[in-house]
Amino acid sequence: RNPDLGPWKTAPARQMTLNREFGMDALPRQLYNKAKKTPFPLNIMVVGETGLGKSTFMNTLFQADLKDTTELKVPQDTKTVEITPVSYELEEDGVTLKLCVVDTPGFGDRVNRAADLEPILAYIDAQYNAYHEAEKSKAFRAAICDTRIHVCIYFLAPTGHRLKELDIAALRVLSSKVNVIPVIAKADGLTAQEKATFKKAISEDLEINEITTYPTSFENDIEGLEELKQHIPFTVIGSTDLVQVKDKMVRGREYRWGSVEVENPLHCDFIYLRELLMAHCLHDLVQLTHHHHYHTHRSGLLCGPDRPASLLICDEEYDTFMEDAKTNVFQDMTSREEAMRQQFVQRVRDTEQTLKKREEALQQKREVLMKELEDQRRQIEIAEREFQSMQLQTSVR
Ligand code: GDP
Repeated sequence: RNPDLGPWKTAPARQMTLNREFGMDALPRQLYNKAKKTPFPLNIMVVGETGLGKSTFMNTLFQADLKDTTELKVPQDTKTVEITPVSYELEEDGVTLKLCVVDTPGFGDRVNRAADLEPILAYIDAQYNAYHEAEKSKAFRAAICDTRIHVCIYFLAPTGHRLKELDIAALRVLSSKVNVIPVIAKADGLTAQEKATFKKAISEDLEINEITTYPTSFENDIEGLEELKQHIPFTVIGSTDLVQVKDKMVRGREYRWGSVEVENPLHCDFIYLRELLMAHCLHDLVQLTHHHHYHTHRSGLLCGPDRPASLLICDEEYDTFMEDAKTNVFQDMTSREEAMRQQFVQRVRDTEQTLKKREEALQQKREVLMKELEDQRRQIEIAEREFQSMQLQTSVR
């Protein structure tokens, strides 16, 4: 059996040429028109320490004032991380994007920084659970309001050193639940050499700590992705202001020594990240969320009520839980395989017995027939001899 083809896959379809047109080439247009009518949901979560430029970045990305950044300032005495989802509808060429930006102000602001992850993970889990509940009651997936996080942009401080302990812990846990894209914030504070060294150090740290980030850790056959992957982890500069560069007004930040441009690939990787998010992987992010992250969460829910709710315990308890689940599945598979093997052996034995009995019956029948044949042969011989002696007597007379 070809291991590449799953057992459920059929043989490749036969290629045929149609004698006349059926109009099925209109299928992509039908899908396009349908997709155009349905708003496309995209839920983005931004995580990172306060002041790293998360709000400014989102405004820069969508070139719209998504939030009044001044109002989002986090009070210094924040007791917990605030989760603030805000929805927007953006339209481009008849296509509506239902964008939800989930900000997490207060992350990393307190002494016990690890505890900051709990509300974030609880929020992510709650969206999966809500979807799961809706799925149980609604027949059509399209009718479900999807609030699951499709991508989490994780902002790293432009320290130029290695990843901080908090970042490693957060990235590990978050990437096991959602698509995570780490970005180096405020890249205008780093020289070209510092950026290259920092990027290399981050990539190494991600690999050492087995952190699965998007899109590198997932299999995707998206056109143009290989080129974009070269710029990971992306450096970003956020600005909603326009600055004059030669005779043009562009988005950037102005300094006494000159200006930095957000969309200049020599200054940062903003355009590559935007291309990845909006032009290449928008659909893939939503699909991967549903088919990978949500299904992993759902199978956890279905595996038992004792599944750890908070992923703060992910590192050890979640691993143990997954190990146990794997062992159970393995044991179940082994016992089923053994039962099937025994069933097969029994069937072979039964068939052998039946065949043996049939063979014996045939043998007995053959012997009876042979005996009858022998008797007939003998009788013919006797008759022949009698006939010959009669002939002899007649000739003597
Ligand atoms: P948040 O707390 O992470 O949402 O950060 P904000 O978006 O509110 O930004 C905090 C401050 O950093 C503001 O004064 C921004 O103008 C500034 N800022 C945002 N992005 C950048 C950047 O790329 N470079 C520099 N130098 N400053 C930035």
